Amino acid sequence: MAKRIELDAPNVSEIEKEYLCKSIDSGFVSTFGPQVPEFENRFAKYIGTGKAVSIQSGTAAIHIALFESGIGKGDEVIVPSLTFVATINPILYAGANPVIVDVDPETWNIDPDEIQRAVTKKTKAIIPVHLYGNPCHMDALGQIAKEHGLSMIEDATESLGATYRKKQTGTFGDFGCFSFNGNKLITTGGGGMVAGKNDESLDHIKFLVNQARNESEDDYHPEVGFNYRMTNIEAALGLAQLEKIDMFLSKKRKFNQIYREELKDINFIRFQEEYMNAESSCWMSCVIFKKKIDISGLQKKLKENGIPTRRVFIPVVEFPPYKRYKFADHKNSCHIYENSLCLPSSTLNSEDDIYYVCRTLKRNIL
Ligand SMILES: *Cc1c(COP(=O)(O)O)cnc(C)c1O
Repeated sequence: MAKRIELDAPNVSEIEKEYLCKSIDSGFVSTFGPQVPEFENRFAKYIGTGKAVSIQSGTAAIHIALFESGIGKGDEVIVPSLTFVATINPILYAGANPVIVDVDPETWNIDPDEIQRAVTKKTKAIIPVHLYGNPCHMDALGQIAKEHGLSMIEDATESLGATYRKKQTGTFGDFGCFSFNGNKLITTGGGGMVAGKNDESLDHIKFLVNQARNESEDDYHPEVGFNYRMTNIEAALGLAQLEKIDMFLSKKRKFNQIYREELKDINFIRFQEEYMNAESSCWMSCVIFKKKIDISGLQKKLKENGIPTRRVFIPVVEFPPYKRYKFADHKNSCHIYENSLCLPSSTLNSEDDIYYVCRTLKRNIL
């Protein structure tokens, strides 16, 4: 194969260069500059919310959302086991205790029944993760949050563009956190966004991420802030990427459709299921094998055919810093990890590339 197949490489090209040059020519390369608010406004509009605050990363977004929610020492925050460590780390930065629960075996997302079992008097928040772009059961989660008076901070870092009841993920919770890391749906090289229900809280976050600097009284800092700002250069990239977001989404969804169609005759291959009323962004297409497969061996064979793949996340409770926060058993997360594989999903690929992946995969497992 002449062309390389990409797993999750970013799709950055001419418009990005153009916008980047504009930002450099304007003299605004750092955290002040017109592209930052423009990107925030366009992004907020895209996800269908009033306001969004740009930030230095998705991790910082989750951290600041916890901080603004007043979560700290002694508080418990419920999170799923099958996720990237960046969902959990901010809870530890905040000095709170993660309570890590198992996921649903079909959707791979946090199991509402497990949350119900894990809630205590100390529980203050839940952080659902829309894994690989697949929306969580937002009706059930909203109900639980309401019933127990919990904050909900959505980790929507992988699900930009995904919807539940036609509403975008990241707009259901008190806060929604997004990432523009290189492998995400759109990238700014590295950055993120916080959306939220309450404009005052978002204004306060905007102030906190800028070292809690009082704009009206220069150099006055009434609180402990953070340097979590996005740069104008990053925002310029973001504006260019936003112009292509619908193309990215339709490509990702088309790839997922091809995978499902081409592999549907193989009775031991399944995909992440969607909840009723949910529509995944298909950020990453993953399969789960319903019979024992040597996943590492398969990855090696695919690699020899120019096809990069990645294992599903190792359940976080398997890592030393998080073991002690495990709630009940994690058999679903472990089963999914052991039997699943993430397939090429980068929008740099063509539909023909995806057909080639399907053919090669079939040849190596049948
Ligand atoms: C990417 C990611 C994050 C963190 O985003 P960064 O911008 O890399 O800090 C958090 N949670 C999940 C599930 C992610 O995939």
